[in-house]
Amino acid sequence: MSLSSPVRRSLLAVTVALITCSCTTQGPPSTTEPSAEPSPSESVPGTAASEPAADVLPDMAMLPLETFRLAYEGDERVLRFDTDVINNGPGPVDVTGERKNTMTPDLKVKQNILLEDGSTREVDTDAILRYETFDGHEHFHFQDFERYRMRPEGGSEWTGSHKEGWCLIDDGNLGGKPSRYNPDNFDCGAYEEDEALEVRQGLTEGWVDVYDWYLEGQYIELKGLEIPGNFCVEAEVDPEKLLTEVTRDNNIASALVRITDTEVTIVRQGC
Ligand SMILES: [Zn+2]
Repeated sequence: MSLSSPVRRSLLAVTVALITCSCTTQGPPSTTEPSAEPSPSESVPGTAASEPAADVLPDMAMLPLETFRLAYEGDERVLRFDTDVINNGPGPVDVTGERKNTMTPDLKVKQNILLEDGSTREVDTDAILRYETFDGHEHFHFQDFERYRMRPEGGSEWTGSHKEGWCLIDDGNLGGKPSRYNPDNFDCGAYEEDEALEVRQGLTEGWVDVYDWYLEGQYIELKGLEIPGNFCVEAEVDPEKLLTEVTRDNNIASALVRITDTEVTIVRQGC
């Protein structure tokens, strides 16, 4: 999330047609908070033979990369860019990080998967939330949520590969569902000064989590690359496959960019 800026207007211009989605639609999800109450139509009280309700999974997808900028981090020249992660799935991304006490630095993440009957089931994951203080964040980040890397056009060797953690939250609406994780109600565990024992984060169906080009970590170092030249830049959401979702086919977005000493231009989306 970008706490410091409103959602870019340009994001809202991204049409849903740009979004590659191979979702298997399982019907519209409940727009209310998941509750433990089973739907009367889905279960018969007192019968053990009823089928367990099916998962209504999220589907994280990377939108086209945009707003490329050349910049410096210390003495290193870097390439900065926006990444936007949308939830294309029929169900929400919903995670809860927990720890027993503050002696443990990391919160272990459970994914809360919505079921067709409106209830949820918890799934243990290898993900962690960690309190981040850099660049004014002062809240918990879902570690390794995205990976960025690049290679010269036609080359096979990736450079500058690194992962970034973020606070998952609803920044922009591209789907019309009521927000479940609005910044007004979800603060990523901010203002608790690393004292939180439980932090919930998520991304509503049809909503976008925005990572602006100027944010800390939102760049790739250009060290060792021959400039001017054409380069393939790639961003992947959930590269460690920490969360359960409909498909990983749409988790990567890439762009071919032309970098000179003074500017960077997009040659085309996809490379
Ligand atoms: Zn943050």
